[in-house]
Amino acid sequence: MIRICSWCNSTLDWSTKFKGKTHGICPNCLRKHFPDEAEGIIWAMARC
Ligand SMILES: [Zn+2]
Repeated sequence: MIRICSWCNSTLDWSTKFKGKTHGICPNCLRKHFPDEAEGIIWAMARC
């Protein structure tokens, strides 16, 4: 299942691992719009 970033429409391969955590947003937009959440989510992504 491929999801799309609702902010910039780029493909989100990794987001499928984070159902319920992400908001259909790519790491770039995540950092830009949600800097506080981004670190925790991206950190969790790296562990997987
Ligand atoms: Zn994006």
